[in-house]
Amino acid sequence: MANYLASIFGTEQDKVNCSFYYKIGACRHGDRCSRKHVKPSYSQTIMCPNMYQNPAFLPNNKLNESQMQNHYDAFYEDFYCEAAKFGEVEEVVVCENNNDHLIGNVYCRFKYEEDAQKACDNFNSRWHAGRPVYAELSPVTDFREACCRQHETKECVRGGFCNFIHSKKPSPELVRELELAQRRHLKLRGRDARSVSRSPSPEPKRRFY
Ligand SMILES: [Zn+2]
Ligand SMILES: [Zn+2]
Repeated sequence: MANYLASIFGTEQDKVNCSFYYKIGACRHGDRCSRKHVKPSYSQTIMCPNMYQNPAFLPNNKLNESQMQNHYDAFYEDFYCEAAKFGEVEEVVVCENNNDHLIGNVYCRFKYEEDAQKACDNFNSRWHAGRPVYAELSPVTDFREACCRQHETKECVRGGFCNFIHSKKPSPELVRELELAQRRHLKLRGRDARSVSRSPSPEPKRRFY
């Protein structure tokens, strides 16, 4: 029985635990969901709900495609650099969904759970773009399961209202640059965590304070 319950945990067959919360870290029923949203005590992943203010959803948005990409790249870089101060970042995923439970959600998976916890605690005392940041440990570890596959091929008919993550892609050059900066930083830091403050971490600091 225990094995059976473990094997169906968080799947459609699980009548107790919510499969959406388990896979995607957010479900459209929120606190009113009839199934349980089991918040993890430890996780490599943190999630900041509604953190990225996508200009595409502002009623008076006047930015064109390339300006919107620049706006997003600046946010992505800012977030990545702040997260990398707490430990090795493996993946940052930002939702471009337009529904209440996924809009602007930012996920960050660290290599180590303790770094995720440190980042989570710190982000909860921070502000971004004039709003307080909220961060929580997220059950999501596999973004392939959480992200909408049809969105990757631009075929999702549910558009911004899809219940799977529609991941907004940063410019590939930016991702390369950030990953390289992080590798360099980790190499310089070596095994001695005390030398962190002397080695150049991927900078800049923009609107995160
Ligand atoms: Zn739910
Ligand atoms: Zn979709």
